[in-house]
Amino acid sequence: MKQRPVFIQENVRLAPLTTYQIGGPAQFLAKINSLEELTSAIDWATEDHWPIYFLGGGSNLLISDQGVAGLVITLTEPEPIFTDKIVEVGAGHSLSKLVTACIDHGLAGLEWAAGIPGQVGGAVRGNAGAFGGWLADRVIEVVAYNIKSKQIEVISAQDCQYAYRHSIFKDRAELLIWSVKLALEIGNQAELQKIADEHRSYRRQRHPLLPSAGCVFKNPAVDEVARLAPKLLQAAQSVGAVSRGEVSAGFIISQAGLAGYSIGPAQISRQHSNFLVNNGGATAEQMRQLIEYVKTEIRHQYNLEFIPEVALWP
Ligand SMILES: Cc1cc2nc3c(=O)[nH]c(=O)nc-3n(C[C@H](O)[C@H](O)[C@H](O)COP(=O)(O)OP(=O)(O)OC[C@H]3O[C@@H](n4cnc5c(N)ncnc54)[C@H](O)[C@@H]3O)c2cc1C
Repeated sequence: MKQRPVFIQENVRLAPLTTYQIGGPAQFLAKINSLEELTSAIDWATEDHWPIYFLGGGSNLLISDQGVAGLVITLTEPEPIFTDKIVEVGAGHSLSKLVTACIDHGLAGLEWAAGIPGQVGGAVRGNAGAFGGWLADRVIEVVAYNIKSKQIEVISAQDCQYAYRHSIFKDRAELLIWSVKLALEIGNQAELQKIADEHRSYRRQRHPLLPSAGCVFKNPAVDEVARLAPKLLQAAQSVGAVSRGEVSAGFIISQAGLAGYSIGPAQISRQHSNFLVNNGGATAEQMRQLIEYVKTEIRHQYNLEFIPEVALWP
């Protein structure tokens, strides 16, 4: 039996590492600084057959109250490397800080992401997007570590199979995103700063400030809503709740009369109904029940099948 590497801690609370502030402990947690550390942590965990989880900024994640048995891997935050109009950045880097660093270098392309919590790796996996921008539009290639083969894989943007909130990393759970190269453009620093500030201020005004994981459900496609609930689509169009081929899931939840509904301290926000917030002390079980409640109501009222964006552990 291999000895546990010294940097792997035992019984670590995960709730403070998530924006929901929910979740039990990790049996083991490793904060990884280098590929050598990663390899030794994976070697140790696979020898003992522990399940392995990747934790980014915990901003799109609901962890069970019992926590997770096995090894949770988190990555440290090395400085991004800028070469002309390309930035190479580690997956553990904060997305929002990367936006600031790009603007400081007078480089455009990520302003839309100002104020999105979480790390670059989580954003690469989920194809984070806002205000018409998508991470997929900037990705040149992703370096991933395959925890099964223990090999590095370099995956081109095309092979990432990007779509709305989707990438190959959701299908291939053995790939830990290690770093990414992004293509940017020359921009005017003051103008970029102004746009980023406007996005941050929009978020402060429109989004609930209580602990949440952002939007819980994917927006359904216009075609699907047109087919299954045409009247709902008309209502959404009349208030501008349709954009880029999607109908706002938040609008649909409000229209269904669900805003404000709560299970204990877990509540559907009245401010933005696609945010399910933790009013203080909510459990993962209550949040899961609330997610199921929304799905069931939307199915009954509109025949639509809502798909959660949020990852559920285990
Ligand atoms: C207030 C608020 C506002 C938000 N607004 C937006 C928004 O406008 N647009 C948007 O797209 N999202 C938004 N989100 C959701 C969230 O911030 C993003 O989805 C973010 O990109 C998730 O990254 P993370 O590092 O926090 O991932 P985590 O929550 O840590 O993980 C999410 C999933 O990604 C996996 N993962 C994490 N890191 C890696 C890695 N290195 N390799 C492989 N898999 C990994 C995890 O295993 C998990 O399955 C918002 C969230 C909040 C709380």
